[in-house]
Amino acid sequence: MNDKAKTALVVGGGLAGMEAALKIGQAGYKVFLVEKETVLGGVLRQLYSSFPRWENPQDLLNNKVQQLGLYKEISILIGMTVKTARREKDAFIVDLQGLDEGDNRQIVVDAVVLATGFELFDASLYGEYGYGIYPNVMNSLEFEAKLKEWGSGQENSQPPQAVAFFKCVGSRDRSKGYPYCSKICCMYTAKQAGVVKDMFPAAKSYVFYMDYRAAGKEYEEFVRSVIETKHVRYVRGRPSKVIPENGRLLVRAEDTLMGVPIEVEVDMVVLAAAIVPRKETKMLAEYFGARTDQYGFLDHDTFNPAKVGDRVFFAGACGFAVETQGAQYQGAAAAAEVIALFNQGGE
Ligand SMILES: Cc1cc2nc3c(=O)[nH]c(=O)nc-3n(C[C@H](O)[C@H](O)[C@H](O)COP(=O)(O)OP(=O)(O)OC[C@H]3O[C@@H](n4cnc5c(N)ncnc54)[C@H](O)[C@@H]3O)c2cc1C
Ligand code: SF4
Repeated sequence: MNDKAKTALVVGGGLAGMEAALKIGQAGYKVFLVEKETVLGGVLRQLYSSFPRWENPQDLLNNKVQQLGLYKEISILIGMTVKTARREKDAFIVDLQGLDEGDNRQIVVDAVVLATGFELFDASLYGEYGYGIYPNVMNSLEFEAKLKEWGSGQENSQPPQAVAFFKCVGSRDRSKGYPYCSKICCMYTAKQAGVVKDMFPAAKSYVFYMDYRAAGKEYEEFVRSVIETKHVRYVRGRPSKVIPENGRLLVRAEDTLMGVPIEVEVDMVVLAAAIVPRKETKMLAEYFGARTDQYGFLDHDTFNPAKVGDRVFFAGACGFAVETQGAQYQGAAAAAEVIALFNQGGE
C-alpha cells in the first residue's frame, strides 16, 4: 500500500541532509528537516571555491535551498535539534529542542535519515604546530573563511607573501587515534593552495605532504594543474615545527625527496585536520538504534549501504569523509530507501 501519510525525519541540514529531504519531499512524502544552526548548508556554506571544477559552492547551496522551498511536504526546522527519541513499533517519537528555553516540539515519524556531518580534528594536539597559540596557524575550514573574506574585498590586512599547507594533520596517525586517510584533504588543500596563487600571484604557496591521493574523476588533473599551471610548490616531507620569527612563521621540515632539512618563512600555516565524527552523532545513533564504528562514524549495512539501523539511514560525512558530489549521492540514496519503505506501506 502506498501511504502518503508516512513521515520522515532528516537530522542535519548540510548538503547531504538537504538532498535527502528534497528527494523525499519530491516523492510526495512529508519530511521534517531539522538543523541545529539557524541556517541551512553546514560546511558547504563555509566554502569559498570547490574542487574539482573551481565552482562557487554558494551556487550549489542556493540551488538546494531554493528547491527545498518549492515543496509543501518539506518542513524546515532550523535552530532545532533532537533532544531525545524513542521507538514505538514502526514509529519514532522524537522530542525536538529549540534554541530558546521552552521551545520544544514532539513529532512522530516513520523513518529517519541521519545527516549530521563531521568535525575537524583538534589540531592543537600537535603542540609543535602552534594551533590555538599563533593566530596565523589555522585549520582548513578557518582558512576557507579567510578566503571568503579576501574574496569579498572586506579583508584589509596585508596580502600574504607566503602560505604553507600541512597535510595529514591527525589523519594516518595511530598515536592520535585516527589511522585512516581522511580522503578529501589532498583535494581541498590543492584547491586552497591554488586559490592563494590566483588571488595573490606574487605569493608563494607551499604544500607539505607525505604523499598525495587524488583518486576521483578529474582529481589527478586538478592537482597537476595546481602544481604545473598555478605553480604551487609541493614539498615532500613532514614539518617538524612552526616557530614565530620577525612577525612571521618559520616552518622547519625535512624534504624527504632531497634528503635535506628545509626552512621556509611564511605568513600563515593551514592545517588539513582529519575529518572526525561529531560526538552527537553517537548519541543520536543510540536514540535511533543505529550502528557506529570504532571511531563514531555511522556504520552501514553490507547489503544496503544507506542503512544503519531498522528504518534508519544515513547520508554524508557522518558516515565518513565525503566530497560534495558524494554527499549528494548519499542523500539521494538514503531518500530512495525511505521512499521504497514508504511505498511498500512500511512492511
Ligand atoms: C575545508 C574543507 C573544504 C572542502 N572543500 C570541498 C570542495 O572543494 N569540494 C568538495 O566536493 N568537497 C569539499 N569539502 C567536503 C564537503 O564540505 C562535504 O562533503 C560536505 O559539506 C558534507 O556535507 P554533510 O551534509 O555530510 O555535512 P555538513 O556540511 O557537516 O552538515 C551537517 C549538518 O548537520 C547539522 N547537525 C549536526 N548535528 C546536528 C544535530 N544533532 N541536530 C541538528 N542538526 C545537526 C550541522 O549543523 C550541519 O549543518 C570540503 C571539506 C572541508 C572540511
Ligand atoms: S586525503 Fe591526503 S591529506 Fe588527507 S589524510 Fe589522506 S593523504 Fe592525508
